[in-house]
Amino acid sequence: MFQIHRQRRWVLPMLAALLAAGAGASYGYRQARDVADPPPEACDVSYQTDEEATTSVDQEPGSDEYRDLTPEEERVIVHKGTEMPFTGEYDDHFEAGIYTCRRCGAMLYRSADKFRAGCGWPAFDDEIPGAVKRIPDPDGRRTEIICANCGGHLGHVFEGERLTEKNVRHCVNSISLRFIPEKEVQYGRAIFAAGCFWGVEHCLKEQPGVVETTVGYTGGTKENPTYEEVCRGNTGHLEAVEVLYDPVRVSYEELAKLFFEIHDPTQANGQGPDLGEQYLSAIFYLDDEQKRVAEKLIEELKAKGMKVVTQVRPAGKFWPAEQYHQDYYAKKGQTPYCHVRKKLW
Ligand SMILES: [Zn+2]
Repeated sequence: MFQIHRQRRWVLPMLAALLAAGAGASYGYRQARDVADPPPEACDVSYQTDEEATTSVDQEPGSDEYRDLTPEEERVIVHKGTEMPFTGEYDDHFEAGIYTCRRCGAMLYRSADKFRAGCGWPAFDDEIPGAVKRIPDPDGRRTEIICANCGGHLGHVFEGERLTEKNVRHCVNSISLRFIPEKEVQYGRAIFAAGCFWGVEHCLKEQPGVVETTVGYTGGTKENPTYEEVCRGNTGHLEAVEVLYDPVRVSYEELAKLFFEIHDPTQANGQGPDLGEQYLSAIFYLDDEQKRVAEKLIEELKAKGMKVVTQVRPAGKFWPAEQYHQDYYAKKGQTPYCHVRKKLW
């Protein structure tokens, strides 16, 4: 339906968005939440419902902690209006950074995924994982996109236009976004070791709010360690995963609980079938608050009768692993043999 000639490819998007301006006015924020799809299932994270996923963030849906909106912002974000094409501040904007939700502040899009579509609105061919929800538009034809955190209207998503390799175009109102330059983006950062880093990364990536993960080595003394050196076990390093996350969507405590739930923190000689010092369970904390949270959760597990052996250590240098280890299971199209989530809280 959206296969169109290249020279005319802006026509349909523009018509579609202008149609939305008139069609969506009666659909408010609450209704959008009601029809939203549940989060995707993977790594047994799926039992966490939308409500659970949002109750511990700083800004809850419908709370007064959302940023106050101007009448024009409210027309688009709450009442699903559409700004006039070629008028938004980010239509022709290509600095490095992150585009966040103008209402709740959640991270939505990376500048690296923005492209020139020529349609008059900012266009992205990918979103930050789990940050954007797709719901059927009331017009029965298109797919609306909303902020997964607050339900605010962003625009529409189109596939099959062949504008980029990913063949997807998120057509987003500038007024639904707020750009943060890369140097000012305040990611949360966490480092966990829980056995084979392939499986740990796979499970952590499933958590909404996790923006980026890197597998690597930390805790030892060897500089620029290789996988083979770490496997030989003479470096002191553990296989670990560094997580960059959006603090608006997920807290350090939620991530640390997930860390405990995807491995066996009572196994002292490795993890599952992977034995050796590089597979030990450890939290590498980056500040006193992370240390406090880690120790508190361990006490809670001990109170449940678990003999937790997880080390709580100050974070040192994190050495990213070789490229072929990054996103290993995603590249292979497989799921981990070593890590399955088991609910502890
Ligand atoms: Zn939002």
